[in-house]
Amino acid sequence: MSSSILHPTASLKPHREESLLGGHLWIFSGALQQPPHWIEPGGLVDVKSSTGQFVARGYYNPRTDIAIRILTHDLEEAIDAEFMRRRIRSAVELRQVFDPTRTNTYRLIHSEGDGLPGLVVDRFAEILVAQIHTAGMQRLRPLLSDALVEETGVRGLLLRNDSQSRRREGLEIEGPEVAAGDVSAQVLVRENGVQFLVDPWQGQKTGFFLDQRDKREALRKYARGKRVLDCFSYTGGFSVYAALSSGETRVTSVDISAPAIEAARQQFALNGLDPDRHQFLIANVFDYLEQARSNGEQFDVVVLDPPAFAKTQIARTQALKAYRRLNMLGMQVLRPGGILLTCSCSGVIGMDDLLGALSQAAQRLQRPVQLLETYTHGVDHPINLAMPETAYLKAVFCRVG
Ligand code: SAH
Repeated sequence: MSSSILHPTASLKPHREESLLGGHLWIFSGALQQPPHWIEPGGLVDVKSSTGQFVARGYYNPRTDIAIRILTHDLEEAIDAEFMRRRIRSAVELRQVFDPTRTNTYRLIHSEGDGLPGLVVDRFAEILVAQIHTAGMQRLRPLLSDALVEETGVRGLLLRNDSQSRRREGLEIEGPEVAAGDVSAQVLVRENGVQFLVDPWQGQKTGFFLDQRDKREALRKYARGKRVLDCFSYTGGFSVYAALSSGETRVTSVDISAPAIEAARQQFALNGLDPDRHQFLIANVFDYLEQARSNGEQFDVVVLDPPAFAKTQIARTQALKAYRRLNMLGMQVLRPGGILLTCSCSGVIGMDDLLGALSQAAQRLQRPVQLLETYTHGVDHPINLAMPETAYLKAVFCRVG
């Protein structure tokens, strides 16, 4: 069997192989009995149990708490161009659930969830935008471009290696770079039949937040003919859906980013909506809500989709307070019987935490809350069942009395 060992080996402490055999893809440095020798950060490594059995193959980084991320549990599977194509083909097959005449934008590769740790690829019509988050995936980059373009038939691939998380891995923050074909300044996409212009070069993350697609669709029915407040609107994802639900609906979009708010206006026009019948505000949501509360403003529907308040376990307590405060403020501008959509994209905050913050807010304000619908990610953000800790998005629709 050892004849198929292909790379430097790392050995685990006793019994540390169990979660890996269950499909988990991370090995923390504390689980290693013997780290691999003579290996560059991000280099490939074969992992053995304490009794010397092959367990998995992955890549190693001595700088990070997660020392090894697993790419395969199959001794015979080499990490080569064919491996990359198999993983990408499998990801492409899952996304065939989307009818391209209605939805031609989705996450194509969701890192661990698609068996490619450290890689995120979003599809915007005929363009792919990729982000490499780890040293190991960076080393596999030569295998990526051809496989991604050929397996999807897209016109261009843009690399957006500007995530701050790269520093932890010892990687540089890079500017956007065309890795294949050509990539225009803006891309027109369809999501559930709604049109959006995406800026893959300068937009936040890859240009558009695809993980809210199903929640945006769910919002439509609550928004018909209503006054809707979209907090942290970015380029108006929720706002456009709401405004399209009925000619009577009036939407206020609030975001701290001026370019995002400008883009939101454009999305309205693009979808045949008159932006002048709606409000677009560049503001800090917390300040805006306090002001709106003092002015006695009341909305029928409030959307709260803030950025991640906590990126680490240490920041959790502070983040829970921030969620509570935000949800209180949201409820205070919501008329009795109004609908609140509250979201959290902090990985360290669970659904129970979000519901806890929500119920504390409700208790303090003495407002009864009826839970209506709960959501996580869309189907294009699959979560490896063995790694529930990689799930990050929670969204709750409720009615606040
Ligand atoms: N709901 C959006 C995505 C929101 S992402 C969609 O469906 O596309 C989070 C947004 O919050 C970003 O656009 C960011 O600019 C904005 N933001 C971050 N902090 C903010 C603050 N304090 N006040 C207002 N907007 C903020």
